[in-house]
Amino acid sequence: MSDEHDDTPGADRRSDEEWRSALTAEQYRVLRQHATEPPWSHPYNTEHRQGRYVCAGCGAPLFASDAKFDSGSGWPSYFEAFDSAVETTVDHSYGMVRVEMHCRRCGGHLGHIFDDGPAPSGKRYCTNGMSLQFEPDETPDRQP
Ligand SMILES: [Zn+2]
Repeated sequence: MSDEHDDTPGADRRSDEEWRSALTAEQYRVLRQHATEPPWSHPYNTEHRQGRYVCAGCGAPLFASDAKFDSGSGWPSYFEAFDSAVETTVDHSYGMVRVEMHCRRCGGHLGHIFDDGPAPSGKRYCTNGMSLQFEPDETPDRQP
């Protein structure tokens, strides 16, 4: 298995087969096949504890709970990501032009970024809860 502590972009390059066995079927569809979970389907919609959200694929820290806001969209939403945590591509699927975001370390699909978020960023990182793992602040050996 690749080095979990390597933060180099693209450091986690597992094969499709390795991802398939490492993830649940639903996580695999979202992270590796760009699926979108149904709105209001994930408990992180109503997660309000302090902590951070890491990539469900590789564990890279992606969002702080302080950046989470209630967008009313049915998907966990954030107005910013940690520095250099996500990369974007332009997604032309479904006849729309959208900015897709993925984890910088493993390339896992997270969701899309829209320009209708709150100040100060004006961005809405519309994220599949399935692509995230929440780490509450109570975790004793939490890394900064
Ligand atoms: Zn990742």
